[in-house]
Amino acid sequence: MAFTWSRLTQGLKKTQANWVARVCETIGTKQKLDDTTLDSLEEALIAGDVGVDVSESLVSSLRSDFAQIDGSDQALTHLKRGLVERLVAERVATVARPEVILLLGVNGTGKTTTAGKLARRFKDAGDSVLLAGCDTFRAAANDQLKIWADRVGVDVILGRPEGDPAAVAHDATAAALARHVDHLIIDTAGRLHTKSNLMAELEKLVRVISKVLPGAPHQALLVLDATTGQNGLRQASEFHRAVPLTGVVLTKLDGTARGGIIFAIRNRLGVPVTYVGLGEQVGDLDTFDPEMFVDAMFVQQAGTAEASA
Ligand code: GDP
Repeated sequence: MAFTWSRLTQGLKKTQANWVARVCETIGTKQKLDDTTLDSLEEALIAGDVGVDVSESLVSSLRSDFAQIDGSDQALTHLKRGLVERLVAERVATVARPEVILLLGVNGTGKTTTAGKLARRFKDAGDSVLLAGCDTFRAAANDQLKIWADRVGVDVILGRPEGDPAAVAHDATAAALARHVDHLIIDTAGRLHTKSNLMAELEKLVRVISKVLPGAPHQALLVLDATTGQNGLRQASEFHRAVPLTGVVLTKLDGTARGGIIFAIRNRLGVPVTYVGLGEQVGDLDTFDPEMFVDAMFVQQAGTAEASA
């Protein structure tokens, strides 16, 4: 169920037209990569949310390799390789069953949508799935998750309004064990105005889950809205301190012109992007493939539109 090439390039249109186009204009038309060109390139990367550290290291690698020779195509190829290298991560497949996946993130980033999309992916692969809603604070959160569960055709465990989120996590983990489901996906609360309480609540969820099932949760995925840029990264660090993250789901990449945030995440948090969201529909989520992603970002500029998935 991989994204088709056209779906991926379509979803990245804003990013292609904005910062990637600027990057290509900067180095793609120059014969020599002089200091002025490299400074402009660094500015273009930073403006695209790539982050200062990653931008500096990409530019300094170009500087040392290309100072003496002609720029344009070679420089672009070198830059693309550098971008891919900064995204590649060792993928650790979970074999545990039930696999418990905790979805974390602030409200509105797309947690519930991602829970539904993930459930669909697993189901399509022939696995059984149970959803759990631990945001007992917002009545609408339960309703939303129930809608997704019905849409995808999986069971969902919900708490009483204002009930203890840890009790829901406990019951859901016990149910996943008893029912021998393959994947339990737990949606959590994301209210920001009581941040310290939220982090304490999330830490408690993890403790309770691991008591019922030692080793769980097997994945703690931060759902991050790509349109929030560097701000989202700061929030991400807070979550990472409370619950060690195993990966990031980067949502709404279709809605941003600065998709460079994907490079900053790995560098800043030290965790890989494992899934990307490119739309609101159930099929708009895919595992993250760095090479395909970078190719898709540069497709129009590099003139490789004929490539296929
Ligand atoms: P939650 O509060 O974190 O659970 O966020 P929701 O799952 O309710 O999503 C908030 C909004 O973002 C909804 O309108 C979703 O349809 C939308 N959304 C989620 N993921 C994506 C995505 O990848 N692309 C786009 N364009 N919208 C998304």
